Amino acid sequence: MDFQETSVQRELRALTRKFVEKELFPHVQEDEAAERFRPEWIRKLGDLGLTGIPLPESLGGAGLGYQEAIATIEELAAGGAAYAISVAVTGLTQSILNQFGNESQKSKYIPPLAEGKAIGAFSLSEASSGSDAGSLRTTAKKSGDHYLVNGTKLWTTQGDSADTLILMARTGEPGPKGISAFIVEKGMSGLQIGKREKKMGCHSSHTVELVFNNAKIPVENRIGQEGQGFTIALNALDAGRINIGATALGIARAALDVAVNHARHREQFGKAIADFQGVSFLLADMKVQLDAARLLVQRAAWMKDQGLPFTQEAAIAKVFSTDMAMRVTTDAVQVLGGSGYTQDFPVERYMREAKVLQIVEGTNQVQRLVIGRALAKGK
Ligand SMILES: Cc1cc2nc3c(=O)[nH]c(=O)nc-3n(C[C@H](O)[C@H](O)[C@H](O)COP(=O)(O)OP(=O)(O)OC[C@H]3O[C@@H](n4cnc5c(N)ncnc54)[C@H](O)[C@@H]3O)c2cc1C
Repeated sequence: MDFQETSVQRELRALTRKFVEKELFPHVQEDEAAERFRPEWIRKLGDLGLTGIPLPESLGGAGLGYQEAIATIEELAAGGAAYAISVAVTGLTQSILNQFGNESQKSKYIPPLAEGKAIGAFSLSEASSGSDAGSLRTTAKKSGDHYLVNGTKLWTTQGDSADTLILMARTGEPGPKGISAFIVEKGMSGLQIGKREKKMGCHSSHTVELVFNNAKIPVENRIGQEGQGFTIALNALDAGRINIGATALGIARAALDVAVNHARHREQFGKAIADFQGVSFLLADMKVQLDAARLLVQRAAWMKDQGLPFTQEAAIAKVFSTDMAMRVTTDAVQVLGGSGYTQDFPVERYMREAKVLQIVEGTNQVQRLVIGRALAKGK
């Protein structure tokens, strides 16, 4: 295994970092306060070739792999988690369509998503089904050449701006085997955007309720077979967890940079606080954790790129890197003392952004279930 990044990975990282420094970072604080999401930045990222990295070139992607995609996600997250999340969620949509869609669904929906001209979303969770997603209640009843969809979905990231949404709804028996996946287009009749969550952080990334009231989805918009939806969702979330890991790396790295810079320049008792062992060991532990998490995220991405099974490795990477980001950002606030608790420095934002990563795409408790179950089966 090669621990050095390839020239392509370095190039993608540099390209993203330039965008972050010029556009994203200077506006992040005001946009977070205003809960403002800028779809035009997704178009710009698309123009730079950064919104469909692991998709085939024939479908508007860059024809590269997850090892390349995570370099871009990490850099975006270092600037502001909302845009890393946006690109990752659109990536989830693309990857479902690419893996499970038929030829006409692929050619119609993937290119605009891969080129940054369209935004994707993924709607699985409901009020009564979060970790237990297989118990979802939204129904899709077949009636001639369409399905009639009724129910309320919760927590859909960028559900208000998405052009193409993947919806999980019940077409059959109770439990995971009765769920099917559908493509929903923006503005379809019978779909209403409901309340927007007031959150702890990631304010520029909108999280909304979606209300389906006799919404008519054409049969041709079903992805795969009836009853295949849950398998599709789990499969997509495995890959999504690698992106969550990369987001954690970006946030933690940015927090460590701020903490180190502060520790080198802030003087107390006549010397830089970085020279106190108590602070220096804190910084050293942050770096150790960050580097270890990076290796786990890279391993999961590498396994996916090799076509190897990677469910357990993605879960391990997600748990470790997001728990790491929570610890590192909390310690970064500590290193900055009182200043760390103010909005004059970004570390309090990083801490709030890190928290959600322990919850989304399967909580870290659920990831431990996945890892523990695999161990119990002797894997
Ligand atoms: C900002 C944000 C964005 C989101 N975006 C999306 C999205 O785009 N699409 C989407 O479909 N969903 C999305 N979600 C939903 C997210 O996936 C769920 O919040 C998550 O799966 C947890 O479900 P829950 O909130 O219902 O918590 P619950 O499932 O009620 O869990 C509550 C607690 O119980 C624990 N728990 C539950 N079951 C077990 C168990 N068996 N063993 C041990 N512990 C357990 C959990 O780990 C957690 O600590 C988003 C959530 C947030 C906060």
